[in-house]
Amino acid sequence: MENSTIVNKHSNVSRPSLETLPEHAVQRAGLSTTSVHAGEARRKPSDAITDSICCSSTFTFESTQSIIDYIEQKQDREEYGRYGNPNEKVVERKLAALDGAEEAIIYSSGMAAIVGLLMAKLGSGDEIVIFDQCYHRSREFCSKHLSRFGIVTHQIETGDFRAMDAAINSHTKLLISESPTNPHLSVIDLEQFVALGKSRKVETLIDATLATPYNIRPIEYGVDYVWHSATKYMGGHNDLLAGVICGSKGKLEEVRKLRGILGGINSPHNMYLLERGLKTFALRMERHNDNGQRMADFLENHPRIEKVFYPGLKSHPSHETAKRTMKGFGGLITFLVRNADWKQTAAIIDACTIPKIAPSLGGVESLIEQPFVMSYFDYSPEDRKRFGIADNMIRISCGIEDSEDLIADLKQALDV
Ligand SMILES: *Cc1c(COP(=O)(O)O)cnc(C)c1O
Repeated sequence: MENSTIVNKHSNVSRPSLETLPEHAVQRAGLSTTSVHAGEARRKPSDAITDSICCSSTFTFESTQSIIDYIEQKQDREEYGRYGNPNEKVVERKLAALDGAEEAIIYSSGMAAIVGLLMAKLGSGDEIVIFDQCYHRSREFCSKHLSRFGIVTHQIETGDFRAMDAAINSHTKLLISESPTNPHLSVIDLEQFVALGKSRKVETLIDATLATPYNIRPIEYGVDYVWHSATKYMGGHNDLLAGVICGSKGKLEEVRKLRGILGGINSPHNMYLLERGLKTFALRMERHNDNGQRMADFLENHPRIEKVFYPGLKSHPSHETAKRTMKGFGGLITFLVRNADWKQTAAIIDACTIPKIAPSLGGVESLIEQPFVMSYFDYSPEDRKRFGIADNMIRISCGIEDSEDLIADLKQALDV
């Protein structure tokens, strides 16, 4: 709606409609149409087809009365850059549409998003219950930092709903899980997760970074908050960081206000990149899903591989849940090399010529890494065991290269 204030003297457009598509078309649009068009004004300044990068740290008012109109919410517009900018708003509307959510709030990274949400929702004496297979920094934030503010975190074995139920008490404010999890790719039964939250009157949050709204839309199951690191599949090009929380307007009202105070917002340039990346989101996901499944099938049948974690494989404990709830299983695969120590495992990674060695996932370029080295090198052997990080574990994020090339490359690396 802030576009209603854009007056372009070259085009007579003073009030472009909010969405490219009329409301009824948005309702039934597929994910690719949504990726390309949702959230954008139909006509833009200068009749440009793309959104221009609006570099402005502050926004001017025509008169004192227009400030008062804005404060009294008679005018939806920008005020000061820390509270948002037009490029962020377009991306937020697009992301909300993709997740089927009323509202999306964008942050400067995935971690800024979860910290922003938890700081807004929790206070001293509150408790949260979290499944233990999750992004290691979110676990660290809960156990090391929320604890300093008197917030208690219970870590429960992933998928053990009975233990999660038992950990809930009158102080519990939030149940948290990732799905699929990283690096084990466990898929949570969202129906059970939501039913538990509703029956105990506790809100629920899913980190759906690995699934993306292409493969699952947790809001449709009744999950209260969906969190994504948009750095991964949504940006999709390994060239930006961003994070998003989706949910209902009411539940996110205070979260947005706190973001304006914490200040973890995005530059217009960064949002331009994300908007551009999102145009091909559905198309890229199709290829990630396809490459992931083909690579997982190849690895499972290779004699040097002991075990493959991929929800698209029948051998994965979450396969039935994944098949029932997900459209595809993504590009991330974790596997164990048979009879290999960490150095022999590293030699396979070093012998790859297409995937590059790096943390992160979900970009067009395939990435490969050894979780033991990349993320858990400074953990004690006991803690690594506890989190299921084996010395002979490799994680590959299949990009959008040709699957034949990726598989041939892994094959030669395993033959070295
Ligand atoms: C990367 C990642 C995060 C953190 O996001 P950043 O954008 O790196 O801050 C959280 N959850 C999962 C599953 C991730 O892969």
